[in-house]
Amino acid sequence: MKNQSIEGIDVHCHVGAGARATGAVGELLKKLKEANVAKCVVSPIQLKEYNFETFTYAEQNDAVASLAKTYPEKIIPFARINPGAGEAALDEAKRAFTKLNAVGIKLQPSVDGYSLSNYTLLQVLEEAEKYNTVVLIHTGLNRIDAVAHPLACIDLARQFKGVKFILAHAASLLQDAYEQGNLLPNVWFETSIHSTPFTISNYVKKYGDSRLLFGSDYPYSDPFIERLKIERAGLSESSKRKILLENTERLFEK
Ligand SMILES: [Zn+2]
Repeated sequence: MKNQSIEGIDVHCHVGAGARATGAVGELLKKLKEANVAKCVVSPIQLKEYNFETFTYAEQNDAVASLAKTYPEKIIPFARINPGAGEAALDEAKRAFTKLNAVGIKLQPSVDGYSLSNYTLLQVLEEAEKYNTVVLIHTGLNRIDAVAHPLACIDLARQFKGVKFILAHAASLLQDAYEQGNLLPNVWFETSIHSTPFTISNYVKKYGDSRLLFGSDYPYSDPFIERLKIERAGLSESSKRKILLENTERLFEK
């Protein structure tokens, strides 16, 4: 497509055989090419369906780390941390930061089954602060997602100012989260699933273009379609460039 000339970065992709979907690296790379996306953040997919087990995702984090070695130009590795696993999760976070070269971590409190006041989570975030790590966190507003309410994520960002938080799924379009998040220097919003060209356009008019990041949540959505929302939001070339690429590049600068 002619107006998709900016080579983007997708900040939200998953690989692995999961409970609800499978993310395959071959398919992911093909889809990224279709969407003119040069690089993507990859973390392990949700393994089980809401069973609140206490596994650490260590094996899956290893798999992502090795993919990043195979495709160093394409894949930015994030580890998935499940604080429900207690001390083992803290060890896994330390291992991710020191041994796996994880650029960030992915948190999915609702399906992995822990609250944002989980003590291990707070310890993990202290570690993340030490390593200047990015945290991509799922947000939602439905009953299951109550533990990942966008405003609770904003509270965490207020508490851990040294951690860069990306609120996934456009913070479920919650205006209060945009109002509050834009007052904090360490909060960004990723566009997948909930946003539309209309909501992206409105967001940029109200809050500017420096906190939005393109993401697809592959395999739950498709990078081409998620990118199209940004392309069709009536933005200036420079705003598109920031959302598709430059904001993410800046965020990952250490
Ligand atoms: Zn995700």
